Amino acid sequence: MKREARSEKREAGRVKREASSEKREAGSGKVLFLLPFCSPLPAPHYLAALLMVVLQFMAAGQSRADDYVFQSQCCTIHYSQASQLESFTGKIRGGAVSRTLDQLFVGGGRSSGQSDLGEVVDSLFKRVQLILDMPMPKLRVEIQIHRDEKEVARVFTQITGGSSNAPSFYWKRTNTIHTQPESLTVGMLAHEMGHCIIDHYFAILPPPKIAEMLCQYVDMEVSGTSGRGGRASVSHFR
Ligand SMILES: [Zn+2]
Repeated sequence: MKREARSEKREAGRVKREASSEKREAGSGKVLFLLPFCSPLPAPHYLAALLMVVLQFMAAGQSRADDYVFQSQCCTIHYSQASQLESFTGKIRGGAVSRTLDQLFVGGGRSSGQSDLGEVVDSLFKRVQLILDMPMPKLRVEIQIHRDEKEVARVFTQITGGSSNAPSFYWKRTNTIHTQPESLTVGMLAHEMGHCIIDHYFAILPPPKIAEMLCQYVDMEVSGTSGRGGRASVSHFR
């Protein structure tokens, strides 16, 4: 009996180690190998291995600059500097949009501080669902704030292998909106949220052009503009 208990304990330990190992692998490849501190390598090899570790961490940071995370009910916002989140918040709390949100979500009691960011992005996400008439109460989306448009373009190339000058884009495989505070508008964010909602709502996805038209409609509804004369705000990629 005791032996069985010990065996079970060992088994539990093994499962725990496996879980730990999976966790490391899930960590976006940041820990792909361990430095062989116990091996009898000469000093130059240690330095080379150390350099590889440093470079690997740097590369991981470039592909996903999520040093900080802001969680709301519907959104997980990743950013690397506090100022990015502040700029992001400022951009999506424009006057027309706040008015629109207030009209739809009465009684929010929003203050002017950053503390209501979660409420604003959640309200926007729900409003887009109302505009599209595609309610998805359990849907969540990741939002990655990049430094500027150049970084968005670079990430786009990293992910897709293609090129684009879109200031924001939605990537379905990771359910992530990639954007930047430099030229972000609330209509632009709503547009990308629209892509997320459409891509999750339909079992068979509509043609990309149809989805794009729907998202442009969302942009117009939210921002209260005709959508003409401005820069093409977004592109749609699957
Ligand atoms: Zn689009």
